[in-house]
Amino acid sequence: MKVPLLDLKAQYETIRGEIRAAIEEVVEEQNFILGRQVAALETRIAALCGVPAAVGCASGTDALYLALRALGVRPGDEVITVPYTFFATAGSIHHAGARPVFVDIEPATYNLDPAKLEGAITPRTKAILPVHLFGQCADMDPILAVARAKGIPVVEDAAQAIGATAQGRPAGSMGAIGCFSFFPSKNLGGFGDGGMAVSVDPALAERMRVLRVHGSQPKYFHSVIGVNSRLDTLQAAVILAKLPHLERWSAGRRRVAAFYDGAFAGCDAIVRPITLAGNTHIYNQYTLRVPDRDGLLKHLSEKGVGHAIYYPLPLHLQKCFAFLGHREGDYPESEKAARETVSLPVYPEITEPQRAYVAETVLAYVQR
Ligand SMILES: *Cc1c(COP(=O)(O)O)cnc(C)c1O
Repeated sequence: MKVPLLDLKAQYETIRGEIRAAIEEVVEEQNFILGRQVAALETRIAALCGVPAAVGCASGTDALYLALRALGVRPGDEVITVPYTFFATAGSIHHAGARPVFVDIEPATYNLDPAKLEGAITPRTKAILPVHLFGQCADMDPILAVARAKGIPVVEDAAQAIGATAQGRPAGSMGAIGCFSFFPSKNLGGFGDGGMAVSVDPALAERMRVLRVHGSQPKYFHSVIGVNSRLDTLQAAVILAKLPHLERWSAGRRRVAAFYDGAFAGCDAIVRPITLAGNTHIYNQYTLRVPDRDGLLKHLSEKGVGHAIYYPLPLHLQKCFAFLGHREGDYPESEKAARETVSLPVYPEITEPQRAYVAETVLAYVQR
């Protein structure tokens, strides 16, 4: 048996007609740039998050960049985030001109450790950028409390967490701006790159709207230097067609995760993902900690079980960030997670025999 890490074809086969009709409309209308489907998707995603405004853009990476620019982040500023995340989180901080300042993660959730936040704040801190990694919101209440006390805005990197909630609050709605990605492997994926930033503050959303069209307002007049970062109408149409299925797909992922949880429960060597009280996890990834992780990876490859390491090298140790002056040992929980974790197939279309095979294959190695 072979089980891929993700099977986008299996999803497509369940919605082929809807998707093709949505694409056909765009092709017939030829409204490729900021067509009506982009505005329609912005309205729907804003509603999903319970916020007044959303701005479609070219990628999740750009959503982060636009968010930081809209908040006035400039060269000389610092933005706090975690080193255990996808590169784009810190890359966007750098592109906005600021210095990424890292705070280590909580080992149980892999998200920003709120206890370490205050110590990282300086007079230059312009924003706090927690990541909702793997589909679960960071522990937001203490993060928001520190941010509020210091008067620093929070930007949520919710690229992996669309539809997740914390105490009923949707991911992306808790800070000043929330950023989503429609990269194909996210829970709501387009047929290419795409992203969106949502905000509780219509003025911030308006600034991002201007920044995404070169800072043009009115057309051909520029008071800020923006970028070209629009969400393609074609992508918006595909994502709009997929949106009605999002909740069902995330519930499907939770069912697969619950199956794995049950299968691994008796095995002390495996550390399963936990969900904080009050959180709804959408399992963009189902991530375990195991002893001899690299041995398990080899075993999974031999047995045809898809897997990935998210992420093998924390950002503070990346060559491109050497100028920040970090060393091994600076963020031990991030470094440990990078050495010990593996993510397994958790897509909702996985069959019962497939998920059973994944669990058996992991257990056979760990309990050998
Ligand atoms: C996917 C992702 C991004 C970037 O999204 P893109 O759409 O690929 O640019 C940013 N942060 C995190 C945590 C992500 O997983």
